[in-house]
Amino acid sequence: MEFATFADRAGTIDAEPADLEIVAHVRELLAEAGDESEERRSSGAAGEPQTLEIVARFAQGRVFPAWDSTTLDIGPSACYEAIARAAGTNVSSDDVEDRLAEIGEIGDVAASYDFGGQQGLGAFTGGGADDSGGDSSGGLTVREVYDTLEELAAAEGSGSQDRKVDLLFGLFNRCSSEEARYLARIVLSEMRIGVGEGTVRDAIAAAFNVPEDRVERALQVSNDYGQVARIARDEGVDGLDALDLAVGRPVQAMLAQAGTVTEALEEWEETGVEWKYDGARIQLHHDPGDSGPAGESAAETRVFSRNMEDVTEALPEVVEFAEETLEEPAILDGEVVAIDEGGSPLPFQEVLKRFRRKHDVAKAREDVSVRPVFFDCLHADGEDLLADPLTVRHDRLRSVLVGADSDPESADDEDIEGLSLLWRTDDPDEIESIDADALEAGHEGIMLKDPDSAYSPGRRGKHWRKRKPDVETLDCVVTGAEWGEGRRATFLGTFELSVRAGDTLETVGKVATGITDEKLAELTELLEPHIAAEEGQEVDLEPAVVFEVGYEEIQSSPTYSSGYALRFPRFQGVRHDKDPDDADSLERLERLRGH
Ligand code: AMP
Repeated sequence: MEFATFADRAGTIDAEPADLEIVAHVRELLAEAGDESEERRSSGAAGEPQTLEIVARFAQGRVFPAWDSTTLDIGPSACYEAIARAAGTNVSSDDVEDRLAEIGEIGDVAASYDFGGQQGLGAFTGGGADDSGGDSSGGLTVREVYDTLEELAAAEGSGSQDRKVDLLFGLFNRCSSEEARYLARIVLSEMRIGVGEGTVRDAIAAAFNVPEDRVERALQVSNDYGQVARIARDEGVDGLDALDLAVGRPVQAMLAQAGTVTEALEEWEETGVEWKYDGARIQLHHDPGDSGPAGESAAETRVFSRNMEDVTEALPEVVEFAEETLEEPAILDGEVVAIDEGGSPLPFQEVLKRFRRKHDVAKAREDVSVRPVFFDCLHADGEDLLADPLTVRHDRLRSVLVGADSDPESADDEDIEGLSLLWRTDDPDEIESIDADALEAGHEGIMLKDPDSAYSPGRRGKHWRKRKPDVETLDCVVTGAEWGEGRRATFLGTFELSVRAGDTLETVGKVATGITDEKLAELTELLEPHIAAEEGQEVDLEPAVVFEVGYEEIQSSPTYSSGYALRFPRFQGVRHDKDPDDADSLERLERLRGH
């Protein structure tokens, strides 16, 4: 498929307001990309994704499957530079940034340049020759774009950033305006044509005539829209049903809503109750493997964050725990908590000192140690458990964790290391006392869970509810900041906070207080790479970082675009474990205000 065709279809989808129509357009796009003669014409090497798979991902602005930790690792400024170079000798990346500040969206900016004059250069600059066989137009194909982006992602080491810019330049150089628009958006993960996960699910079902719920299940276990589209086309429902979880390939985490004990008891009669640990979410994948001839272990262990990022290297304690305890292949869901020397939990901020760390892990481990606690089991010994009720999964979790040394029948749950206890009750007093114990032991409070509910990956459903004891905080996206004055001139401060409102972000206030110089330096380092535009002391930030903020009140106010303002906002910490998409919504703000 030509990239121009993809861009044309993306343009149609972009202009379409009605959801049902969007699904119909995506269905056509997938059918077109998945056409057999199309696949033959543009087939890649064996093992390479097919055009259909690439298109299913591109439509959502993805290059790689959701489970894959590979990233392009290219920042906005490198992308601006590639655009500037392709746009001609008289355009600089500053010009591109200026235009971005004016127009506001990178796709529109890319489309506003005329790259056509330089087409002839494309073949010499890393864009690759046109290998699409009998295609006479000489234009880019979807496969070429993918292959180049794959090469770009793989570039590592010294000079790799220049190489990435060269590769991207080679692509832009061969783009029409419309192609450039969608290339820029794919590269910066800002596709935003209204194609969400549900849209692709429904479109796959319609294009290849398979039921939506089976596509949904296949997506949950595989986390790969491309693969699911291909299997739906080639193998139909049977192929989809045969897809299973794989140890080593992360699954989206099931999420919780805020809720009350009253609601839980009204809806479920009995509720599951667990301690809520104040740490960072982890998903442990462990395969003990077969031990080698000399008894050496062939175990494979990977640990993923709630965003499916591989954090194994940062958490050796979790790997050691898995190797010592688990005797069967398993996927476990839990939390990693920082602990003091006596084993008591430390606040969330401490775990963040360890969570994504890539360097000096051994040294960091001396300062703060962590331990895992598991509350769910998604897979054990070849068996997927997603569809089983919570209580069944928890029993399986217990048996996986009980270890070889203890008698599984008589072992006391409290003595099973790494097991989060699950109570089941309809007695509010018992729930209060579990809550009090949790707080007493230094934890955050309790979670209420529907004992009969299945595990729904990626869902913020009603089946898991979190109950926090203190005033609710808000997780806001940082969308702007100001350079400080005097002593603080090199620090960003006065951070502009926003909440999600559909696909956009709306401001709710600014937070400046409660931040030490040391913290400001750290925040500046974190936010500086995300500066999208600058004017005087003010900077615009692309949405990337989420702050947890406390406040005294939510007031209605014309000052901010949400129509509300946080009164006395206080910085509580960075939610490194959350993406802008996981930040709080305007709806939640309004609900909190109502309380
Ligand atoms: P929040 O991050 O405030 O949305 O709260 C939900 C998070 O609490 C989950 O994503 C987990 O990381 C964490 N958590 C702590 N203890 C539990 C538990 N027992 N069950 C489920 N989630 C838990």
